[in-house]
Amino acid sequence: MPENDDQAPISPSSNWEQEFLEQSDDAHIRSAKVRYRCPKCESLLTLKEGANGLFWGCESYPACNYTANNENGKPVRAKRYLCPACDSPLRRKTFKDNAFWGCSSYPECKVTVEDDNGVPSSTKKYPCRACGHYLVRKKSKNGYFWGCITYPICTHTLNDDKGLPVLKRKR
Ligand SMILES: [Zn+2]
Ligand SMILES: [Zn+2]
Ligand SMILES: [Zn+2]
Repeated sequence: MPENDDQAPISPSSNWEQEFLEQSDDAHIRSAKVRYRCPKCESLLTLKEGANGLFWGCESYPACNYTANNENGKPVRAKRYLCPACDSPLRRKTFKDNAFWGCSSYPECKVTVEDDNGVPSSTKKYPCRACGHYLVRKKSKNGYFWGCITYPICTHTLNDDKGLPVLKRKR
């Protein structure tokens, strides 16, 4: 029995490497993409496109409704800000160039809060004197003001002074 019958051995590893390099352009790279897991149920998060742009949603939706903001292709857990009216989480939305925060219980709750550098400008509650609901800070062409969350049912408004509602005094 000859011991070494291969005179010109072709290294199998170089073939393998070549094949690997050739196909790595393809599905391999995509499937090797970093995966993110849902902190709520451990399913995978998938990048989805919504009305307000890309976001991360749980694979188990609708069983799990976890979502995260998309920042440079990574899910970023949104800080939780609660609706001043019903304590549901507020969600940041963008409309054209404007960002604002809307209640996640929409359309049952129509609260929106101005965006102030990525955080809701105010989530404080101020009672509406007219109807007993709450006032939220809103923005109009003429600047900020406080309006009742039940608008248009209640049209009570107050002026805004540096983020606080100013009581109107009738004399
Ligand atoms: Zn989940
Ligand atoms: Zn709400
Ligand atoms: Zn009111």
